[in-house]
Amino acid sequence: MPGFELFGDAERKEVNDVLESGVLMRYGFDGARNGHWKAKELEQELQNTLGVKYAQLTSSGTTALNVALAVLGVGAGDEVIMPTFTFVASFESILAAGATPILVDIDDTLTLDPKAVEAAITTKTKVVMPVHMCGSMADLDALKAICNKHNLILLEDACQAIGGSYKGQKLGTIGDAGCFSFDYVKTITCGEGGAMITNDPNLAINADHYTDHGHDHVGNDRGAETHPFLGYNFRISELNAAVGLAQARRLDDFVAIQRKNKKVLKEALATIPEVSFRRIPDEAGDSAGFLSFFMPTKELTDKVVAAFKTHGVDAYWNYYENDWHYVRKWNHLKDQVSLFPLSDEIVNGMQDLHTTDFSQSDDIISRNISCLIKLSWTEEQVNERATQMVAAIKSVL
Ligand SMILES: *Cc1c(COP(=O)(O)O)cnc(C)c1O
Repeated sequence: MPGFELFGDAERKEVNDVLESGVLMRYGFDGARNGHWKAKELEQELQNTLGVKYAQLTSSGTTALNVALAVLGVGAGDEVIMPTFTFVASFESILAAGATPILVDIDDTLTLDPKAVEAAITTKTKVVMPVHMCGSMADLDALKAICNKHNLILLEDACQAIGGSYKGQKLGTIGDAGCFSFDYVKTITCGEGGAMITNDPNLAINADHYTDHGHDHVGNDRGAETHPFLGYNFRISELNAAVGLAQARRLDDFVAIQRKNKKVLKEALATIPEVSFRRIPDEAGDSAGFLSFFMPTKELTDKVVAAFKTHGVDAYWNYYENDWHYVRKWNHLKDQVSLFPLSDEIVNGMQDLHTTDFSQSDDIISRNISCLIKLSWTEEQVNERATQMVAAIKSVL
């Protein structure tokens, strides 16, 4: 991460194709578009690289989650289990569906703790939504077993882990549906964009309609299409899709670079006994977008954060004080501050997030440092970084 580091001629060529035809929309205008169908091509590319039957592009990763929840039939009164450590898009999409977000602890995988998931299941639970945070995956065997046992839907948020896999299957293809983001800072970017993937033809056709106002996309005349059900506009533009098409073709290369760079840093940090690493349920499938490690205490972690600054190490996060990614600072969610009235199901169905015990998550997140793995580093830069990280950590021990 992130793909924008390696923009080049391939991205420019795809965008120029679109600009030269002038057709910026993914549907219609067949004659004028001069054979360019960038959104369709990107969907095909994703299907091929991820090994999945259907990919539906959307305007963002957040709207991909919106679409997934809609086509999975999730709405008012349904509970969706999500982790305390994720991006705000998780609860935004659940609330947008009219459903109720139920937050549960993470474990040392930095993703959903299966035990906490099982403990949170009620008669209203409909979906378990693991988020493959910081490039690596949730414990998918355990979560799948829970979903099968309780007849729940598994929806993977793989926005930060594209190209990763679990026991040979690409992340996002293991649940009933999976979602990706192609926003500006993700491993492959469209500028703004996202995708929902699935192997279920009914979910796929409904996603195709739902993202375009419910249009049935039958025939060649958009104006004459019917609307079998209510939809929305979550379309991606051809310009955005063109950038993503060039980037998606480079996904395997990007993941290979991430793995190579991460290996150097991880091996260097592994020489320090006080450092432990995030548990990765399938190490071989790590997309390696981040290196996430733990210090033994919060105090030492804070010291390492400070020492990284003085040693010139950048692009790392301790999420404990972060208001995008961790429950502690989500005051707008805790206080249910909404511009419009939320339904009774949500208002009364949500946990009191001011008082819910997330001490397990607090302990894990407060001791975690996650470092972005960049694509543009030279070998010398990676080695220098490894040296500085080790020196910084040792300076506080
Ligand atoms: C980026 C991200 C999203 C949302 O993607 P956008 O394209 O920015 O809307 C959702 N979930 C996670 C985990 C993300 O990192």
